[in-house]
Amino acid sequence: AAKDGGRGGWRSFSNDMAEQARLRQQIEQDLRVGIFRNELEVHYQPIISFAKRRICCCEALVRWRHPTQGMISPGVFIPIAEESGLVIPLGEYVLRQSCEDAKSWPHSVRVAVNFSAHQFARGDLAETVRRVLHETRFPPSRLEAEITETALMSDADNVLATLDELRKMGVRVALDDFGAGYSSLAYLSRFRPDKVKIDQCFVREMGKNAAALAIIKAVRALARELHIDMLVEGVETPEQLEILRANGADEAQGFLFSRARPANEIARLVADPTQLPRARKLNNPDDA
Ligand code: C2E
Ligand code: MG
Ligand code: MG
Ligand code: MG
Repeated sequence: AAKDGGRGGWRSFSNDMAEQARLRQQIEQDLRVGIFRNELEVHYQPIISFAKRRICCCEALVRWRHPTQGMISPGVFIPIAEESGLVIPLGEYVLRQSCEDAKSWPHSVRVAVNFSAHQFARGDLAETVRRVLHETRFPPSRLEAEITETALMSDADNVLATLDELRKMGVRVALDDFGAGYSSLAYLSRFRPDKVKIDQCFVREMGKNAAALAIIKAVRALARELHIDMLVEGVETPEQLEILRANGADEAQGFLFSRARPANEIARLVADPTQLPRARKLNNPDDA
């Protein structure tokens, strides 16, 4: 289907394997150029602290403003960036931009940046982070590095060594998408992140499946024991928010509060004391 449209065919579905390979190659080629033409944009999604009733952090989520295809989501191009090695320059760009943008936010607001397994595999990730923090004069304590359990599994010793270096610098570490893959609670004790981000599939399941909430509660108990903060991703309804609050989540992230927004909008939002009315209305768990 994409053939006649040429490059206009990115969004059309094709199960022709040759066609898919060609499309993949086209994306890689365009991405290679796009990174250096500043087509990548970093947007930020607020994270709300239940205790503070306000934004405590924003997650950097990259978007690609393609000249002919429009806005492309990271789900499409991050896997290709990983396979092709482009995730190295892309990752450094996102990190640098995040530090630059977050510099103007209130000091109580951190920025969380996603790192892929490929960035850890290179062995110089800690050095890159140190250099970028230095060059942007961004305080390490305001940076949070997000890593998925899959990345941990691929080369645990090497990843753990890099994470230790990051921690020594003062960077916080979060375990992302927890529970989505082959996670085990043992990861939490072995790897001791500062924060665990429960994957959004659990929130979605919570209403239909009692086991989902039971798992969240079990993670909560262990995380508390190990002094790990627990964030729940993908909160979309007030009902979900209330259940999570009642069950001791520390932080929430989801469309209920806000989607990821461009840097200029986020800068205004985090500076505003009346930001996100829904966050201000939260009951503090300690009030109960
Ligand atoms: P992630 O790190 O788990 O990021 C959260 C994703 O969930 C984001 O999708 C966000 O928009 C989405 N999300 C947040 N709240 C809700 C909600 O309430 N409902 C639903 N349905 N979705 C919600 P996005 O921006 O499309 O990013 C997808 C993934 O791409 C990210 O998952 C992350 O793994 C990867 N990614 C994004 N930016 C980067 C980056 O700069 N570097 C790397 N290596 N990966 C990135
Ligand atoms: Mg993330
Ligand atoms: Mg996640
Ligand atoms: Mg995810």
